[in-house]
Amino acid sequence: MYDVVLVRYGEISLKGRNRSFFINTLIKRMQDSISHLEKRKIESHAGRLYVPVKNDGPQLIEALKKVFGIVSLSPAVRVKKDMESMSFACIKLAEKTIPDKDGIKFKVECRRSDKTFPLSSMEIGRDLGAAVLKNYNKLGVDLTKPHYSIGVEVRDEDAFIYAEKISGPTGLPIGVTGRGICLLSGGIDSPVALWLAAKRGIDVEGLYFHSYPFTSDKAKEKVDDLCRVLSKYCGRVRLHTVHFTEIQKAIKLNCDEDMIITIMRRFMFRIAEEVAKNRKALALVTGENVAQVASQTLESMNVINQVVDIPVLRPLVTMDKTEIIDKAHDIGTYGISIQPYEDCCTVFTPQNPKTKPNLQQCIEAEKNLDIESLVEEAVNKINTEVFYREK
Ligand code: ATP
Ligand code: MG
Repeated sequence: MYDVVLVRYGEISLKGRNRSFFINTLIKRMQDSISHLEKRKIESHAGRLYVPVKNDGPQLIEALKKVFGIVSLSPAVRVKKDMESMSFACIKLAEKTIPDKDGIKFKVECRRSDKTFPLSSMEIGRDLGAAVLKNYNKLGVDLTKPHYSIGVEVRDEDAFIYAEKISGPTGLPIGVTGRGICLLSGGIDSPVALWLAAKRGIDVEGLYFHSYPFTSDKAKEKVDDLCRVLSKYCGRVRLHTVHFTEIQKAIKLNCDEDMIITIMRRFMFRIAEEVAKNRKALALVTGENVAQVASQTLESMNVINQVVDIPVLRPLVTMDKTEIIDKAHDIGTYGISIQPYEDCCTVFTPQNPKTKPNLQQCIEAEKNLDIESLVEEAVNKINTEVFYREK
């Protein structure tokens, strides 16, 4: 029934001189996301993209719904810009999409970007509504709270008639803002942090600290599965795995128990900064959140952050746990995150970690560790894999 999917992209249209770069990147990301379907050309016209439908509407929508940068989508009928063609299309659409018409209220909502069109948006809506009513006299009109809405966009090229506006993920297309390295554990928080950073157009790579045999291969598989889910949105997720066991053993051997978590996290950040340099990434991303656990007090964040110069983005910082869990459900990572395999942090968690460490205590705790060579060795042994969106 539909000819095209009408795509709205909001924020990108405000990007001034960079606009065409943003739009071209969005088109590229959309093409990637629909590459398992029949090939087609995406048209770009002043504030909208048109994606032709080829008997694959539901699959097309499902794929496009996950592309960052898209604000909303409407499967639409594309017709000539005259009232007769538009009326006919509205009547057809009402026939198909409003199954039971008795007592049902509808309205026609029009937007007119073609300012040369002889009727105003209000007049077009009114006249098209009247045409529908004439055909289906059991329908009623309600302009404020209708059961159904028929949308009409009169644009420079053609007119588009649609029944639905499906929300996209909003944000910016991946890659427009540069690269980031996300410290990705198998927990609930960091996959959500990666998703949120990617939503802002960052090309995010994962960095996982694995402590085999203290954490099992199952724990690593969990992270792989999270990358697979995230690749549905990102197209592909590159995952770097650090073998962290030697460093953890050295920390356990040389540091007071209550400082273990802080020192471990300082190592994670140092290694992450090296990876960022190697990958030409401009920021780290973590799933940290203020005051959720001992290492997330502002005092801890201070001493952990002091080992790096690169900016650290913490997209979850203002969110409550319940909001993070809701988001994890939405994006599809929650079920994987709650599988009960040990994380490298939990294995080494002391009874009473210091919640307010200071820099002096960190320096003291690290004095017997050869920081540089431990970091260098861990970086040299990193394993990298790429997880692609499943077709
Ligand atoms: P998450 O739910 O993401 O595991 P968390 O609530 O368990 O987070 P912490 O253990 O303090 O909190 O970890 C804070 C952040 O440090 C994580 O969100 C993640 O970015 C990073 N991190 C922790 N453990 C690992 C790991 N094994 N590999 C990679 N990053 C990690
Ligand atoms: Mg965790």
